[in-house]
Amino acid sequence: MSKVPELFGSMVFNDDVMRDKLPKDVYKSLRKTIADGRDLDITVANVVANAMKDWAIEKGATHFTHWFQPMTGITAEKHDSFISPQKDGKVIMDFSGKELIKGEPDASSFPSGGLRATFEARGYTAWDPTSYAFLKDGTLCIPTVFCSYSGEALDKKTPLLRSMEAISDEALRILRLFGNTTAKRVVTTVGPEQEYFLVDKKLYDERKDLLFCGRTLFGARPPKGQELEDHYFGAIKPRIAAYMKDLDEELWKLGILAKTKHNEVAPAQHELAPIFTTTNIATDHNQLTMETMKNVALKHGLVCLLHEKPFAGVNGSGKHNNWSISTDTGVNLLEPGKSPYENAQFLLFLSAVIKAVDEYQDLLRVSVASAGNDHRLGANEAPPAIVSMFLGDELTAILDSIENGTAYNGCGRSEMEIGVHVLPHFPKDTTDRNRTSPFAFTGNKFEFRMLGSTLSIAGPNIVLNTIVAEELKQFADVLEKADDFKSALNTLIKKTIKEHKRIIFNGDGYSAEWPKEAEKRGLLNLKSTVDALPAFISEKNIKVFTDHKIFTETEVRSRYEILLETYGKVLNIEALTMVDMVKKDIIPAVSKYIASLAEEVNAKRAACGSVPCDMETSLIEKLSSLSSSMYKKLCALDDILLGVKNCGGGALATARYYHDSVFTAMQELRAVVDELEVNTAEEAWPFPTYGDLLFRI
Ligand code: ADP
Ligand code: MG
Repeated sequence: MSKVPELFGSMVFNDDVMRDKLPKDVYKSLRKTIADGRDLDITVANVVANAMKDWAIEKGATHFTHWFQPMTGITAEKHDSFISPQKDGKVIMDFSGKELIKGEPDASSFPSGGLRATFEARGYTAWDPTSYAFLKDGTLCIPTVFCSYSGEALDKKTPLLRSMEAISDEALRILRLFGNTTAKRVVTTVGPEQEYFLVDKKLYDERKDLLFCGRTLFGARPPKGQELEDHYFGAIKPRIAAYMKDLDEELWKLGILAKTKHNEVAPAQHELAPIFTTTNIATDHNQLTMETMKNVALKHGLVCLLHEKPFAGVNGSGKHNNWSISTDTGVNLLEPGKSPYENAQFLLFLSAVIKAVDEYQDLLRVSVASAGNDHRLGANEAPPAIVSMFLGDELTAILDSIENGTAYNGCGRSEMEIGVHVLPHFPKDTTDRNRTSPFAFTGNKFEFRMLGSTLSIAGPNIVLNTIVAEELKQFADVLEKADDFKSALNTLIKKTIKEHKRIIFNGDGYSAEWPKEAEKRGLLNLKSTVDALPAFISEKNIKVFTDHKIFTETEVRSRYEILLETYGKVLNIEALTMVDMVKKDIIPAVSKYIASLAEEVNAKRAACGSVPCDMETSLIEKLSSLSSSMYKKLCALDDILLGVKNCGGGALATARYYHDSVFTAMQELRAVVDELEVNTAEEAWPFPTYGDLLFRI
């Protein structure tokens, strides 16, 4: 392992490899295409394809695939071999520029939310040269976008790239106003911190709920949970450490900047954080990271659970989306600068984010909504479902003094005036101490903490990029027209703070007072996915997407439909799995256990008539009464599932029915089953317990 630098990126057709393998003029022309985002000339593409193929074959590849990100939230690939038949009956290995640039995977079975019905049934994939090709299991993977023939985006990558364009265009307008003529592009950067659980594969295989749903649907609390807080940052067990080492190596080979690893709060829970990079690469890399986590786990006899809430009663898993804006020259625009002028620019970008988060709270909430994440948001370990921003006391005090034109005492200065005073440096520990905030400023970036662990980070970043682009556009529209830039800037920042400071909350997001206070402030509290999703298609939100050409209205509506449908499907699978587990496993097991207790009573009485059997009989009574209650709840759930057909139709009504009726019935059934588990002998219970899953590893 002394060779990490050599290992790093060894499976990536990156810039170094390109420079090495391509003729100079081809390399230059490709670089230019990547930088300008234009289409690749076919003659150039042919040379690139051939070099890619030779490189891939040298490393053992036999196939290639266009690797894309459909609206399922995971990645898709269809492998084609390089073989090309010759007249003499033999084959040669071939890969053309045409095959590199465009693919027609048919792919008609991906969710399209109605797009396919209205438009063309087929989709095609097109190379995204901003993300390097890489090798995975003997296949050359070419990152691509996925569109319909009439041009509708059928994936998550296309709108993400569009949103990066939008924020770049608007941010450049602002930078020009501040006299910056060197930056050619502005990018957003992301470092996603990924949480996950590891469980033993043998135990996992014995639980249908984990197999079908990725989370436990039953399970009584073990005597020990996370209350001692001894797992967080604790010493890593050898088996887990071996897994993490392997994982790091596999990620490094793929050019993924895996950096930090540690144990998380819940038993069997861990985290991996990479070093940040541009948002589209970070998105590709996070998808690859999740996939690699699962594959490497299997090699270690483990299963990696990426579900947001695999176990009730201990923390679920999230994904913190650290986000910032920077120039192509590497200047972080959310870093307070060293001169008053830079600070004024920082304050303007900060104001844009504040206004964006306030005006589009609902869209941010929508961007993290899923059945799995409903178990986290608003529960005790995750941020509440109310979107608010943490800025820290110091920055908030500065904004207050700007708004009111009053003294800011923190740095001993009289009046805080933009463009005159240098802001104090915000040390990390003063800005990063609130772990309950959904959207926290952490010194030089924002940390959006509402994402669930399974989520593709594309969605939240599409929203973030778009809404901040919108505010920057509004600001640029005003400032470009101003005669006196400095005074217009002052007025704009003051006005923004005054109108949007309700979104700033530095207190405890878990406290009982916060929802009340948030309501007074007029902030939204969209508690569940079903409560949140309708906001996706509100007039205001469709407008922001269409104005910036991120989505057409049809594309927004298709995504809304898919999200609602997916919600219902997930709950349906969970409910059916519960019914299956109860009917096929739990009822037989409990009945058998009751029968064994009854036999024991008979045997004892036969052997010695006067011996007390009250323990057995009261257990039999208790288990029988719980069983009867379980059976009632089971029948109720069965009936409610039958009612789905008649719940009024429409994706929203169906999703609402799953939330209000099906989910409630599932919880009631679970409560009785967990009580039965507590009262049943361990060897009689048909599944590994929480204690086994969380601690025997
Ligand atoms: P923590 O949040 O645990 O204190 P850090 O703040 O050091 O840890 O980093 C968390 C994540 O934020 C890392 O993935 C890091 O690369 C990322 N990060 C740091 N700076 C930026 C930035 N400018 N833009 C996006 N992500 C960043
Ligand atoms: Mg962090």
